[in-house]
Amino acid sequence: MNTLGINEKKTEINRNLQSSVSILQPYMIGSIPIDKLKPKKVRKNTELTLWERLYIPEIVRGMVVTTRHFIFNMIGFVFPPNGKKRSIFTVYYPEEKLTLPDAYRGRPVLVMREDGTERCVACGLCEKICPALCISILGGERENKERYPTYYTLDMSLCVFCGFCEEVCPKEAILMSDEYEGLAEYDRKNMLYPKEKLLVSEKKLQKRIDYVRKIYSKCNY
Ligand code: SF4
Ligand code: SF4
Repeated sequence: MNTLGINEKKTEINRNLQSSVSILQPYMIGSIPIDKLKPKKVRKNTELTLWERLYIPEIVRGMVVTTRHFIFNMIGFVFPPNGKKRSIFTVYYPEEKLTLPDAYRGRPVLVMREDGTERCVACGLCEKICPALCISILGGERENKERYPTYYTLDMSLCVFCGFCEEVCPKEAILMSDEYEGLAEYDRKNMLYPKEKLLVSEKKLQKRIDYVRKIYSKCNY
């Protein structure tokens, strides 16, 4: 590749990176956009002062900071400002929910078409790529010769939410949903999700489908 070609490639990569960042920007923590958070600078490789080497004053200082946050949060919890947004950071889960970023990967689900059939054609790519080996598929054929999974299970006790299955699927048939609740079980057997439990209507998943098209088209095509 000549220099001109390399430069064009670099510009394209930079453009892609910038637009990826703009996709992730609406990430919110509570009601505060992530770009409004100002992290404090960390002092590295600095000598401890005598005051710091005594430890006790620093422990007391830490306790004062913790107590101050505790009291402010408690006041905010007991007397929430009328109609105003809280300035404190704590999210009162589960009464309040976080605004999840578009890239969030919750439990994997299978896409169900409007007629109730699955988009999956049982090609087995997701089963093959899954690093946790948690997908099992058995393919079959409908009367109209269309392939479909007669058996599809996903072991949620093994899934590591990596999203490889979503990435590899040629039919946009398996997607990472935004569901993160109700996944814990007392019995591992209940975490073996059959096809019926995995199917979610494509209408519900439209936001994720749009996101996947946008993000993967950058890398693949
Ligand atoms: S998210 Fe990763 S671990 Fe979970 S089913 Fe998909 S490929 Fe397997
Ligand atoms: S990769 Fe997609 S189409 Fe292929 S078996 Fe998995 S979910 Fe079905």
